[in-house]
Amino acid sequence: MAYEPIWAAEPDKLNKFEFVKLEKDGLDVIRTIIEEYAQKGYDSIPADDMDRFKWAGVYQQKPKDGHFMMRVRINTGILNSRQARALAEISKLYGRDLIDVTTRQAIQFHWLRVEHLPDIFKRLEDVGLYSYEACGDCPRTIVGNPLAGIDKHELIDTTGIVEEVNSFFLLNRDFSNLPRKYKMSISSNIYNNAQAEINDLALTPAVKVIDGEEVIGFHAMVGGGLSAKPHLAKPLDIFIRPEEVLKVAIGVTTIFRDYGYREKRHHARLKFLVADWGPEKFKEKLIELVGELPSRGEDKTVGWQAAYFDGVHPQKQAGLNYIGLNVPIGRLNAEELIQLADVADEYGEGLIRTTMSQNILISGIPDSKLEDALLAPVLRRLSPYPKHFTSRTVSCTGNEFCNLAIVETKNRAARVAEYLDNHIELDEKVRIHFIGCPNACGHKHIADIGLQGSLVKTAEGMVDAFDIAIGGTLGGGDNGPKAQFTQNLKGRVKGDQVAQVLEQLILFYKENRTEAE
Ligand code: SF4
Repeated sequence: MAYEPIWAAEPDKLNKFEFVKLEKDGLDVIRTIIEEYAQKGYDSIPADDMDRFKWAGVYQQKPKDGHFMMRVRINTGILNSRQARALAEISKLYGRDLIDVTTRQAIQFHWLRVEHLPDIFKRLEDVGLYSYEACGDCPRTIVGNPLAGIDKHELIDTTGIVEEVNSFFLLNRDFSNLPRKYKMSISSNIYNNAQAEINDLALTPAVKVIDGEEVIGFHAMVGGGLSAKPHLAKPLDIFIRPEEVLKVAIGVTTIFRDYGYREKRHHARLKFLVADWGPEKFKEKLIELVGELPSRGEDKTVGWQAAYFDGVHPQKQAGLNYIGLNVPIGRLNAEELIQLADVADEYGEGLIRTTMSQNILISGIPDSKLEDALLAPVLRRLSPYPKHFTSRTVSCTGNEFCNLAIVETKNRAARVAEYLDNHIELDEKVRIHFIGCPNACGHKHIADIGLQGSLVKTAEGMVDAFDIAIGGTLGGGDNGPKAQFTQNLKGRVKGDQVAQVLEQLILFYKENRTEAE
């Protein structure tokens, strides 16, 4: 039986876009793109359907002249080499040879045209990939541990659980009209590889003795998210067995769908409901929906390694290794992705893994093949041993393609990192994140140094500038370090002075840091 949208009974509590979604489900636009807009062209697309394109994973690219960007879901960041080659082919054919790795482990294309979309959807589907619901008010890409299955620091392999949850929600019309975007993370890595606290629903590793037996499972946090009003997710007093993950995910998503706010778009994320209800009331409602759950067990997260893996590391399987590569500012070209697929096939297990730090891993490389794998020409630029600042600089898309951007970010971030690499030597890694507007796709709030684009007035007119914030970090569960967002510094720095100002800031830190910092 089709799901009934109970919130629609109070139309005065709905923002304008809710009526657009009620009139036609976002998922219906996929068929209209294939059957109509791809033939009739860009000018035939009415504004409402253009807004619904997000459910197909497609956005208009700046300057709204008929080009689109597309995000492809890479759940938990794991791709096989056939999928990687298909992505490279799409980029070559339609995307001007550009491939971005996003901060949610997805792959992003630019420069697509509406007439290309049916072929792209098909090419993706042929290899088991989807752009559908990578954007829009629906369950997005499920982020997770990119090392799932090979990780010495995971309690259990979460690949199958992520797949189960993804299969349930993808294209599920009972959950394709949420109040706003909805982000889940599922990881069993003890170093918080999936950045738990910034997700709407995060499952993290835990154990609990139940009926005399130690059970490996998960703890849950709800209501995290960044943007202009960042919130850290709050822990619920529940323990989840692996076989109950889907049930809990459905319960939490149902709460968001049915009780989430729909009155104002900027106040619609789950974080606002969680802040108002508090974790106790949220838990009560969840139990009402899914039945009793045990209370929390022992939290197993011990720290946060910020999803960085550069270098060569042994896997949990004896004699096998993975190589963590740096993808500067998360951008590579099609030929590079093909060459990575070649390396994965020739030396590894045919898998490529994307990370939330916008980087890539290649796994399953036996000790005996490691030396040869490291000599692959593609690893010269996408290096396992990158320069310090280049390796730790993250950037959102910025005004090169993003309609919401106030300033250019990606190319500037690359230049700033290069400058810092040429001017500073430091024995610890400083994470620098650039965002082009308050939406925070580049995760500024969890950086050591976060830069948010804005404008300043000068004698020559308005110019690009950045607000600088420092000291962001995510946490280590119940027993490890605590998460905190960056704090803003006073003043605003002109775009062309960012490199020099960061140089001074980092040198000041180098001179004055205490042992604990
Ligand atoms: Fe665009 Fe803003 Fe997101 Fe950057 S943070 S990609 S500018 S919406």
